[in-house]
Parts: sequence; structure tokens; C-alpha cells
Amino acid sequence: MSTAAADYRFCPRCGGKLSPRVLKEGEPFRLVCGACGFIFYLDPKVAACTICMLDGGIVLARRGIEPEIGKWVFPGGFVDRGESVTSAAVRETQEEVNLRVSLLGILDAYSFPGSDIVVIVYAADVVSGTLKACDECQEVRAFAPEALPWDELAFPSTRAALRDYLRRFFPRVRIPR
Ligand SMILES: [Zn+2]
Repeated sequence: MSTAAADYRFCPRCGGKLSPRVLKEGEPFRLVCGACGFIFYLDPKVAACTICMLDGGIVLARRGIEPEIGKWVFPGGFVDRGESVTSAAVRETQEEVNLRVSLLGILDAYSFPGSDIVVIVYAADVVSGTLKACDECQEVRAFAPEALPWDELAFPSTRAALRDYLRRFFPRVRIPR
């Protein structure tokens, strides 16, 4: 999922050639345009997600698109620039699994070395709606906390957040290593 700096060759501002340069000692190299001096910072992307319960189960969707097609993940998606992270979490949950949720609080923020995505996960209550898969999901289901599909989860953040969720809300459920 990591985006290599080598993927970007031309300046988004003027079309000049980008080259890697160390601008400050101790910092990673930056892509700098040889024509206009524009510095192309490769910032992380932010994803906003929710973990919510329906009929005693944790709502997960089976991904219908790459990456990790066919694997399970809780609803979520990328935050648009200018949108609040909390609004994005609510919006993405509605879009992906057709449930209107109210956020209870943040579970944690998940990031990993080499990955270009920061995943922010909220615990949420379902307010209304009926579970329904979106175009980009193969299937949606609510899994009993004891019966999560641990071997078929999509991302490291999926596993980490579900473990945190269980520790907080279902401390007696056994969590696989
Ligand atoms: Zn340029």
C-alpha cells in the first residue's frame, strides 16, 4: 500500500522534472522540481472508519475491490480534503454498509512504518438503517465477537483495531495472537 517516491516524475505545478533531494539533514529526501522549485511533499492519506454492532455482532464488509479483495474490514474510507474526520467516518459507514451511526469516541489511530495511510477508527452506535452491501463490497455481515474472521481480515489496522475494540468492550472474549 506504500506509495514510492519513484512513482512521481513530474511537477504537478509546472510539469518540470522532479528529483529527490535532501533539503534538511536528518529528514527524508524530498521530490523537488528542477524548473520551479516546487517541493512535492508525500504526505500520508487519512482513512476514517467505524466499528459498530448490529444484533449483537460486529459489522464487517467483504471487500469487492483491490487491494485485499475478498477480505473483511470494518466500514470506512478516505477523508476528503476539507472534511472533518468524524464526518468522513459517518459518511463512509452510510455509503459502505447503509447504516447511520453516531460516534461514541475514538478507538485509536493506526499507522505503520512504510505504509502511506493513517487509519483513524471510532467506536460507533447504529442509529438507523438496514445492513446492505455497497457496490464496492461483496457482502456485509455482523459477526459475533467470538467468531470474527481473524484469518481473513484485510489490513494490519483491521486486526489491530478489532483487538483493541474487543479488549475495551468484550474483555472476556479470547483474542488470537
Ligand atoms: Zn515545477
